Formats: sequence, C-alpha cells, structure tokens
Amino acid sequence: MTFSLAIVGRPNVGKSTLFNRLVGKRLALVDDQPGVTRDLREGEAKLGDLRFTVIDTAGLEDANDDSLQGRMRRLTERAVDMADVCLFMIDARTGVTPTDELFADILRKRADHVILVANKAEGSAADAGVLEAYALGLGEPLRFSAEHGEGIPDLYGTLQPLA
Ligand code: GDP
Ligand code: MG
Repeated sequence: MTFSLAIVGRPNVGKSTLFNRLVGKRLALVDDQPGVTRDLREGEAKLGDLRFTVIDTAGLEDANDDSLQGRMRRLTERAVDMADVCLFMIDARTGVTPTDELFADILRKRADHVILVANKAEGSAADAGVLEAYALGLGEPLRFSAEHGEGIPDLYGTLQPLA
C-alpha cells in the first residue's frame, strides 16, 4: 500500500524546496498527463523506508497578482482531490497571513487528512509564527526547515502510519 501527498500553500513558503528534497532526482515523467503537468509537478518521494507519490502545486509562481487567489484555490482544490494526504505549508518567519487562513478554510472543508508544516523555522525568529499556526485549527504544526532538513524525522513519524 502506498499513498499520495500534495504540498499546498501560498507562493514562496518553501513547497518546492521540500518537494525537491523528497524527490531528489527521481522526478516522475508526467508527459502522459496533459494539462496537469503545467501546474502540478508529480514525483516519487523517498523518506527513510517510505515510498510515496508527492505533488507540488508548482504553477502558483506564474500567476498574475489579480488572478492569484483564484488560481491558488483551483490548484489547491485539484491537488486535494488527487491526493490522499495534504501537507499545508506556512512560512513561520512571516507568520500566518490572511491567505494562509483562506487555504486553511479550503482544507478544513475539503481535505480528509492535513499535516500542518511551519517552515523556515530554523532559529528563534520563527517561534512566534509557529505558535500562530496553532490558531489555524488544523492541529499541531510541525516545526520545519525544508532548506536545512529540520523536522524530517517528525514528518516521517506522521506519514509512517499512513503507509
Ligand atoms: P514555493 O514557492 O512555496 O515553492 O517556495 P520555494 O521552495 O521556491 O522557496 C521560496 C524561498 O524560500 C527560496 O528562496 C528558498 O530558498 C526559501 N526557503 C525554502 N525553505 C526554507 C527554509 O526552511 N528556511 C529558509 N530560511 N528559507 C527557505
Ligand atoms: Mg514552488
């Protein structure tokens, strides 16, 4: 039994950094999925002994400002519907933004299983943002640094029962 994990969250929080860390060079060929490839990147993730499919909502970076909210909503809803589990990432240095709250609303209504990740949490500058994340109502945030690999064991521990 394997599962699929979608990484969602507003632009620049570190989604692709985590995607690349999980997938490494094993980027899946997605040429047989026209229309999906542009906005969603799919790869085969390796985390300890776990193997699963990971989906990055990549197309968010290309959006014009005026279409960003709508595009984020559509992409997120599609990723949520495709995946078994959603990893919702926020930037703990910035703290929770109104856009993060919008995402949290979508996920609370639509996703079966959400893992809340407070990224960029290396160092004490992120402490306040990590605490703010509790108020999103999506459970306990994982304190995380995609860039430095901090929080990876906690992510493993959260995903392991799903495999
Ligand atoms: P995405 O738009 O959500 O896919 O975000 P990216 O993965 O492209 O990262 C956006 C920026 O945040 C880049 O400059 C990354 O190097 C940086 N970044 C990602 N993860 C971390 C982290 O854990 N700590 C810090 N300080 N920066 C990070
Ligand atoms: Mg990205």
